[in-house]
This record gives sequence, structure tokens and C-alpha cells, in this order.
Amino acid sequence: MTLFDAELATRLTRYAALDSQSDAASPTGPSTQIQWQILRLLADELTQIGAAEVQVTEYGTVLATIPATAEGPTIGFLAHVDTAPQFNATGVKPRTIERYNGGDITFPDAPGLVLSPAEFPYLATKQGHTLITASGTTLLGADDKAGVAIIMTAARHLLENPGIPHGPIRIAFTPDEEIGRGVDKRLPKDLAADFAYTFDGGAVGEVEYESFSADGAVVTVKGVSIHPGTAMGRMVNAITLASKIIAALPHSTMTPETTAGRDGFIHATDMTGGASEMKMHFILRDFERDGLARKGEILRQVCAALQATEPRADITCTITPQYRNMR
Ligand SMILES: [Zn+2]
Repeated sequence: MTLFDAELATRLTRYAALDSQSDAASPTGPSTQIQWQILRLLADELTQIGAAEVQVTEYGTVLATIPATAEGPTIGFLAHVDTAPQFNATGVKPRTIERYNGGDITFPDAPGLVLSPAEFPYLATKQGHTLITASGTTLLGADDKAGVAIIMTAARHLLENPGIPHGPIRIAFTPDEEIGRGVDKRLPKDLAADFAYTFDGGAVGEVEYESFSADGAVVTVKGVSIHPGTAMGRMVNAITLASKIIAALPHSTMTPETTAGRDGFIHATDMTGGASEMKMHFILRDFERDGLARKGEILRQVCAALQATEPRADITCTITPQYRNMR
């Protein structure tokens, strides 16, 4: 390992051990107090390594500047401090595997858990590398503590070596990316960069410059609830109607499992309820806004057509914008 690699590994394991999970159910911004702790820690460390204009904004973002050593546009580097809410993030114990041998990886705290290159071919390409994993009972949170560690290591290196020519560099560490609330409306102006790059999970060397545009949809089906003993000609079963909506939507096209690349889709994520009322959630995705609007229209039309055949039911379809293609 080079000194640079060693610093990266140390920073990643140190930051990963700090629980900074976000929480979609929390109304505050940042969504959790523990994110403030890592944000303040990073601001302190940026000050210690000599960064300028270090600031923690009221919306929970750390900003800092590496002053220019040459003429050039202002470049922004961003990473998010929160980790995914879907898995335990308390008590992360990062573990380093030197010179990975290319075989199955087992975990000290979870006998039976195996990370196998047979299942994850990308792992097989990392033979001979130094790997860092969790111990088996938590996520690691390399998404996006790795991004934070890379930016901090690069910042320290550039500040210590003013002979390296670069324009002004702005740094931002943001909260709540995992719950889709990471970038405050004020951030682009406060960052004041001509161009900016986010360091986040992905393959080495990959640059992503566009994404899906995304809407969420909630369909509610209210039936007519009657005791089954006297239901003849009166009961309207919401489960039956909800099933018809699923059956009427495209199956062999326009679903995540039948599309790839730039194709969009309508994805039913959950369906809950009973005979009297059913609630269904969908996510709609498309790279183009008119394609996204068409997918919403398909869902609306399916609901409206079913409503027309069963006026005693009450079917509503609410579509909410989530995010737009960054391109
Ligand atoms: Zn991420």
C-alpha cells in the first residue's frame, strides 16, 4: 500500500465506524442527530488540515474551500455522509483484508454468511487488492463513507502540496441522500462551483451524467364491505379490483425485470389491505419527461377504465414527482 492508500483505508474505517444513518420517517433536516455529529467532525478535520471557508450550513451541509494554486474554473467535489436506512448501521466494525486471494469471504460476526465472487463477478476482479468489509451484522456504509474518505484524503494532499496546480476547489458533504432529501435548494448557490462531481458508489472510472426521472404513485381502491352471508349482488371486493389493475398493466414490457439501459418502467412496489380497501404503491421511471408522463397516463387510464366498469368502488390514483434526470 502507498501512504495515500493507507490514509484512505484509515479514514474509511474511521468514518464507517460512526453511525450516521438517515431516517425517511423523520421530518427534520438532516433527518437524524447522528448526522450532525459526523458533519461537525468533518468540518473540524477540514479546519485542521488547513481548508478555508469551512462552514456547517443550517441545512446540514459542510462546505469548505481548497484555495487555488493556479488559474482555472471552480470545481466542486461532493459526497454524502448518511448510510442506507434498510439495514443495521449501529456498531459497524470495519475489517481489512490485505491482498484478497479471490476466494469466498466469510465474516467474523456472522458464521454462514459468505460473499462469493461466483455470485458477485465484480469481486473476482479485485484479486490482490486490499478490501474493507463489515463484520457481518451491519452494513459497512462505504456508500458513501468511501466518497467522504477520498475527498478528505485528496484535500489533505492538495493542501499540503501547493505546488500542484489547480483552480479553486469547493467541497460539500451532504446529509440524507439515501432518503432522497440530500441536496438543499440553497446548496448550488452556496457551493458556487462552475462544475461539480459527486463521489458515490459505482465502478472505478465510471462517470454518470444522467439518471432516470422519477415519480411515485399511490392507487387506493375502496370496495363495498358486506358480510359474506348477505353479499350477493352487493359486495365489491377491493382485492379483486386491485388484482385487475395489476393484470391490466404491461407485464412483458415496461417493468424493471423486462427492461434495461434507457428503457423506463412502471414498478409495483407493494400492495396491502383487504376486501374493503387496498393500497398499492408504484414507482415510475423514464429518462425522458414525456416518457415519464406517458407511464403515469397508462396507470391513470387503467384505474379510470376499471372505475367505469365498477362505479360502486372508489378508485383514486395520486402521482407525486420524486426527482428529475440531472442532465
Ligand atoms: Zn450513495
